Amino acid sequence: MKAYVDKEACISCGLCESLCPDVFSLEDDTDGKAVAVDEELTDDNSDCAKDAASQCPTEAILIE
Ligand code: SF4
Repeated sequence: MKAYVDKEACISCGLCESLCPDVFSLEDDTDGKAVAVDEELTDDNSDCAKDAASQCPTEAILIE
């Protein structure tokens, strides 16, 4: 299971980074848009990643 961010949809609100900093971060080199780690989610961080996906205001996060 991995997390993906649709950069076109992301509005850089920072919520995902606040909820799940192990997975999401807002990066200068993507114009402040969120990026997800390019690694499989773990038992420790998958719950917060799913939480971020469900709370993202623009539904920009995909977990699959
Ligand atoms: Fe972007 Fe959604 Fe994360 Fe906000 S919660 S920074 S809109 S991906």
